[in-house]
Amino acid sequence: MAEELKIVIYPDPRLRKISKDVEKFDDELADLARRMFILMREAKGVGLAAPQVGKNIRLFVMSHTGLEADDRVYVNPVLTDAEGDESAEEGCLSIPDIKADIPRSKTVKMTARDLAGNQIVETQAGYIARVWQHEVDHLNGVLHIDRMGALAKLAHRKALKALEDKYAADHPTPASKARK
Ligand code: ZN
Repeated sequence: MAEELKIVIYPDPRLRKISKDVEKFDDELADLARRMFILMREAKGVGLAAPQVGKNIRLFVMSHTGLEADDRVYVNPVLTDAEGDESAEEGCLSIPDIKADIPRSKTVKMTARDLAGNQIVETQAGYIARVWQHEVDHLNGVLHIDRMGALAKLAHRKALKALEDKYAADHPTPASKARK
């Protein structure tokens, strides 16, 4: 039986780890991707990276239209040839309700593997390039809140603090238990 997967929420420390390269392109990997698509759709997202389900491996799934026909899985993705700058609003399934304008490169080139281990080389601009950059950030422990401007940080300070407090309440440390 596969364990239950769920989307982990900020400030879960798994969101801050550098994820490891995938080495085995097996059924287990395909099953993980399949279950990530289900979670992504339930949460009405367009992308989901493995650390967001508590798996620190370099894989993300996305569908920029939400349609299954546009489902893509990128394994061990590397982005190069970044060009241009563009700001647009981003949210994150692991940081509910915190949307902010995030600067990204306009165009990027993706080199990755698919679930069968075949190489993918693709260049995209605009929205798809933005999703790629957001998801690859996750594999490096970087969150969109790290990239938002000072004003947005200030505007979202309370909401982030509320998420931090909730996490602390749900995950008491021995010291905080002892203090009561
Ligand atoms: Zn995210």
